[in-house]
Amino acid sequence: MKLFFAILACFSLGLLAKEQLAVQPQTAPKRIAISFDDAPTPSSGYFSGEERTSLLLESLAKAGIQQTAFFAVSQHITPKGHQRLLAYSKAGHIIANHTHSHPDLNSTSLADFIAGIEQADSALQQYPTFRRWFRFPYLREGDTLEKRDGVRQYLAENHYINAYITLNNYDWYLNQLFQQAIQAGEAVELAAMRNFYVDTLMASIHYYHELALQYLNRSPQHVLLLHENDLAALFIGDLIAELRLQGWEIIPMEQAYQDPLLSYQSSRLFTFNPGRIGEIAADQGQRKGLWHSTLNEAYLKARFSSEVLQR
Ligand SMILES: [Zn+2]
Repeated sequence: MKLFFAILACFSLGLLAKEQLAVQPQTAPKRIAISFDDAPTPSSGYFSGEERTSLLLESLAKAGIQQTAFFAVSQHITPKGHQRLLAYSKAGHIIANHTHSHPDLNSTSLADFIAGIEQADSALQQYPTFRRWFRFPYLREGDTLEKRDGVRQYLAENHYINAYITLNNYDWYLNQLFQQAIQAGEAVELAAMRNFYVDTLMASIHYYHELALQYLNRSPQHVLLLHENDLAALFIGDLIAELRLQGWEIIPMEQAYQDPLLSYQSSRLFTFNPGRIGEIAADQGQRKGLWHSTLNEAYLKARFSSEVLQR
């Protein structure tokens, strides 16, 4: 008899979960916060660093975005770099830690890596909106248990959060393709570049959101990973407009990290990390599709060539 009720209970729970899954995609709020890594990135060709910062701030203000976060690499705090971080901070955006020199933890010792976090911490405290949020360069959290647990312990003891992302993409590679084409003197049609940028980013956002609904059974407060690059300065307004058109609400970064996802810690060791939704999917047994097809250089290069360079 007990077994019968146990089976009945499982059956109804199963039904309930399925109903929620079926209803949720239409009714659940879609919330997203925006973060930019590698600030202040030096001039890369199209814009100077100062031009990029002014345009990015202007576009964010025009779109009514009150708080994003800039994850800073402190070796770029030159006098000009400092002015740019200060401008982001004064506009209300969070300034946070992305190490001093952007090392790859997979090829760096634990001690050197932590020294880089500490060096950035000292350099970044001067900014009014500095928060002890740490974003791992390349999202790599350690290829050995010693490194992974060593950094986890360091962050916890120093009141840092692991500033995870949920929405992964290759915006850095799109920017690389763009800059290479400009340097090679190719005619880059900006409208085509904008469509390509918005389209590939929206595809990855949609993909990881669906994965989140599948594995969490709820709609989390997402964190979008972008980089402080020229494409972001050119097209962030277009991306935000498209997000809103597709029903997304843009939320402040501080709100995003109030999500229970903050305390999630995988017990697995990820040499390469797809972001928190990918981690959770992997923890629940998914092996393929942790990186969406828009996170593939060959795929993006072929599309860039046909859609932007129109070859
Ligand atoms: Zn980075």
